[in-house]
Amino acid sequence: MNYYCLAKARVRSSHLQFYKCLPLRANRNAVHAAQWLKGAHDLKGLQYAVFGCGNSQWRTFQQFPKFVDERLDALGAERIANFGFGDADGDIEGDFAAYQAVFWVSLQSHFNLGADDKQSAPHPMFTPVPAQQAESVQVEYVDVPAAPLRPTAAHSAMTLVANRELLTPVAIPGLDAAAAKSTRHIEIALPAGSETKYREGDHFEVWPEQSPEDVAAVAAHVGADLDAVFSLKAQQGSSLVLTKLGQTEAAERVRLQDRDALKAFAAIYRRTLDAILAAPGVTLAEVLAATAATIPRRYSIASAFESHPTTVHLCVGVVSDGVCSRFLQRAEVGHVLYGAVKPCRDAFHLPDDATVPLIMVGAGTGLAPFLGFVAARRARGAAAGDAHLFYGCRHPMHDDLYQAELTAAVDEGILTGLHVAYSRDPGSKAKYVQHAIEQAAETVVPQLLEKGARLFVCGSARGMAKDVFKTLASMVAPHVPDQDGEQYLTGLQQAGWYVEDVWG
Ligand SMILES: Cc1cc2nc3c(=O)[nH]c(=O)nc-3n(C[C@H](O)[C@H](O)[C@H](O)COP(=O)(O)OP(=O)(O)OC[C@H]3O[C@@H](n4cnc5c(N)ncnc54)[C@H](O)[C@@H]3O)c2cc1C
Repeated sequence: MNYYCLAKARVRSSHLQFYKCLPLRANRNAVHAAQWLKGAHDLKGLQYAVFGCGNSQWRTFQQFPKFVDERLDALGAERIANFGFGDADGDIEGDFAAYQAVFWVSLQSHFNLGADDKQSAPHPMFTPVPAQQAESVQVEYVDVPAAPLRPTAAHSAMTLVANRELLTPVAIPGLDAAAAKSTRHIEIALPAGSETKYREGDHFEVWPEQSPEDVAAVAAHVGADLDAVFSLKAQQGSSLVLTKLGQTEAAERVRLQDRDALKAFAAIYRRTLDAILAAPGVTLAEVLAATAATIPRRYSIASAFESHPTTVHLCVGVVSDGVCSRFLQRAEVGHVLYGAVKPCRDAFHLPDDATVPLIMVGAGTGLAPFLGFVAARRARGAAAGDAHLFYGCRHPMHDDLYQAELTAAVDEGILTGLHVAYSRDPGSKAKYVQHAIEQAAETVVPQLLEKGARLFVCGSARGMAKDVFKTLASMVAPHVPDQDGEQYLTGLQQAGWYVEDVWG
């Protein structure tokens, strides 16, 4: 069940509804669903249970799933199992497995089911496939089309024109293996004559290509010809590959809810691809039925249209096993990829009034949009208000991205202050970006409280945005006696003066 039914008001009171809720911002249908739920509807007769998915690093953790749970209750629906939730910052699969045990028992007692009925309740992994659903995708080979295939009409073919490493490989005591990854500066030429425009702070969407090695391995495993073109016809959905894999002994133990076995199993079959290659005798149709369609990934644009009207620049952190970031890492200059400019939320742009002060906060590749901000301020050239950039990385010798460009921006007066926190440099005054903000309290607090500064936060959500918010709240609290610091900042957020663009 996703938000589609709720969004389209397709709630049927004669049915049991199970909502596995993702955060509100993850799904446009969820926004419609929220609007619909706020209305007056009679949901008597509807029975439901809600399991919320999220990450406790988000400040809005479980707000939306709880809202769904409470509104359904308020509208007269009957809650048949208590609200449950999973935390992606911990063991979300484990949370769901634990919730299921409670869920099935609640269902059993609610519907007066016997013990046999309960035992036959399927585990979501390795669900048995009813005979009539056996072919969930039909593969039909067709002639090679004359026009080149493209992922969607909204994404155009564009050429990669620059791709270089930004990290310096130095041995730093205490720096773990994850730090030895890669961060790429990428430039992509916009289609000639397309009149594609972008604003600083906008996103660029990239359609990833799977690695040729992975594609070759799967093709060899299922005996598919890589030059063949086929069309797909979806039948009823089910996961055949996992069912076949489910016939192994390891899967049997997983089915029995053996948590150690589950962990060991997940370590071996980390990706769907691993499961496919381990499953005996799978067909192409089964592989396609078991894999989710590829989706494009978003990246913050790190350039300004005024200075680079024919290209977009990206700053991409390579994720081990990541499909898109590894694609961008290996793509060579001249490679043609599919992409599109996607507008960011209105407030994540430079204010029209150039004299308004700016406070920009980023960690890691969260620096990207601020490179665009700096470039746009330079290009606009007008007398501009103060601009402070707070940036968090690991070590000055390793990942202090675009150090030369940003230092030059300070020298030119485009940036009033550049405050960098180094988490792995014992000599650094600030460890994380919120510490650098704290150290600049005498600048930041008056900018926020008296000078109407706009505050932008960008980066992977792993704690950073939440920590920045908490730090700022405690900094402003003594100066806003009639409300607490968090309330004050929430007011700024509602006014669009404190904007976050975070992911992860
Ligand atoms: C609005 C927005 C802006 C973004 N801007 C940028 C940007 O400017 N630069 C940038 O580098 N990324 C940015 N991202 C993240 C980017 O879209 C991808 O999520 C990221 O590149 C990983 O994609 P992938 O296909 O390589 O990994 P996937 O194939 O999607 O993921 C593979 C595995 O890695 C895990 N994983 C994914 N991301 C991370 C991570 N960061 N750390 C640890 N594990 C991870 C996943 O859980 C999964 O298990 C942005 C995301 C959003 C939503």
